[in-house]
Amino acid sequence: LEKELRHKEKLAAIGDMAAGVAHEIRNPLSSIKGIATYFRGLFDESHDARETAGVMIDEVDRLNRAVTELLTIAGPTRLVTARHNVGDLVERAVRLVEAEADSLGVTVTVEAPETPVMGILDADRLTQSLLNLFLNALQAMKETGGRLAVTLEQPPGMIRLSVADTGCGMDAATLSSIFDPYFTTKADGTGLGLAIVHNIIEAHGGTIEVNSRPDQGTRFDIGLPQGD
Ligand code: ADP
Repeated sequence: LEKELRHKEKLAAIGDMAAGVAHEIRNPLSSIKGIATYFRGLFDESHDARETAGVMIDEVDRLNRAVTELLTIAGPTRLVTARHNVGDLVERAVRLVEAEADSLGVTVTVEAPETPVMGILDADRLTQSLLNLFLNALQAMKETGGRLAVTLEQPPGMIRLSVADTGCGMDAATLSSIFDPYFTTKADGTGLGLAIVHNIIEAHGGTIEVNSRPDQGTRFDIGLPQGD
């Protein structure tokens, strides 16, 4: 409980800061993007400046995404919920990482019930959560290849999702901090991925659990209320 409270305080403090910073960053970014788009329009395909302006636009988009990430950990998360076919959402998220999985020698499997699993949830947020979990799983298997297994189940009134990999796994010390914002063991990590997932699942009134063993792999189990 104490850990949970510490986590909440941390998120709230980051949240206040994030909201302020995001606002200050977004407005100039949209001016820069507008100007870069204008400049790009001045040059035709044969001109280097056209590509350079394109890079500017892409980088602005990247900054905007980073700001969005920061805002996602700014609790409380306001969900935009609707009735969705969860199996379809899972398939779509899997498709987004398939090429990356292929290139790492990772097999991706999806197991889901025959009958559609419907739930009331925020589709964009759930997709983002799945992607964060998938990308972590792929990174954990990048030296070895392996298997990413996604399972969808529907016990009465609930949606269960599990994301399992056969990657590097985690020791107990790492495991105890993975949901903390900015905790990362990666040289180029932000440490925000799982904090975001945690926040999103919590906002849905759901639960997330993790099991992991060094050199064996990791499994995340998510439980969501079906909603009605
Ligand atoms: P980031 O990926 O930027 O480091 P995350 O919050 O997504 O941030 O993850 C935090 C840390 O949790 C990672 O740096 C890694 O040590 C660990 N982790 C997360 N997912 C996995 C996984 N599937 N296998 C092994 N370690 C993981």
